[in-house]
Amino acid sequence: MNEQFIKKISDDLEGVFFLEGALDGKYPFSHSLLINNTLIDTGISTKFLRKLRRTHTVNKILLSHWHEDHISGNRIFSDREFYSHPSDRLLIENTSKMIEYYDCVGSDFEDEFRDILESLRMENVQVSGELIDCQNISINGMYNLKVIHTPGHTAGHCCFYEPHFKFAFLADIDLSSFPFYGGIDSNLIKFEESIEKIKELDIEIAITGHKGVIQGKDTISQKLERFKKVLEERDERILELLSEKKPIKATELIDMNIIYTRYSHFKDYELIAEKVMIKNHLEKFLKNNMIEKEDDGYVLV
Ligand SMILES: [Zn+2]
Ligand SMILES: [Zn+2]
Repeated sequence: MNEQFIKKISDDLEGVFFLEGALDGKYPFSHSLLINNTLIDTGISTKFLRKLRRTHTVNKILLSHWHEDHISGNRIFSDREFYSHPSDRLLIENTSKMIEYYDCVGSDFEDEFRDILESLRMENVQVSGELIDCQNISINGMYNLKVIHTPGHTAGHCCFYEPHFKFAFLADIDLSSFPFYGGIDSNLIKFEESIEKIKELDIEIAITGHKGVIQGKDTISQKLERFKKVLEERDERILELLSEKKPIKATELIDMNIIYTRYSHFKDYELIAEKVMIKNHLEKFLKNNMIEKEDDGYVLV
């Protein structure tokens, strides 16, 4: 018996199922991939995970990264083995640190964020194995999943690639219109390098954390290109506001809808993420000698 959220991707991929997250994978949920007895991410909703447990055997859980929308269901599999990149391990084993990593400590949003995290009823789990770049994970002798370390979104973000069958789980290189690098362990320069790394792969089927399944090599590369373009458009919006003469402070760039072109009812949080992401752009410009520090601000070189 197949539940509705458990979807076969292709007749050629035996035992591989796309698990569609609640709310179509929108925050606070995300999509998962099941490859025989191996599950990637646990953010589809605990209700769905309980159903999955009743119909399928899951022995191993690979976590793409520490964000709550990808690990909130860990408690459903607390008797199973979890794997993550060592850089994201701390947050998975101690989810109370998330507030700090989202730079929310002491902000107006801290209490609200705590409530959101509490409502997800997350529990800490022990990570029993590490995911390292280029590591091969053999699944039932049928699939060889290659770990691709793709830092930037978080420090330990990983994608998973099956080179023979040409499918990949891209997690939060999610091909959406909103690339995110608003955590204190995010890094825009590395994010762009990671997108390049994914562009090098021969992928026919991409499974994303929030945008579902995308089929076709050309469509996937166009969407990767577009995803990267969003970052360049943000670069341009910031550069337009800078001048050669008058130093602009980073704080003056906040609340100008550069990253979040409009705010939602989470504006308090979005301003925090906006600040962190703008800082990432300024760091990139500094590294590329496009701007320099003058007084408390920045000027174009
Ligand atoms: Zn994420
Ligand atoms: Zn996500």
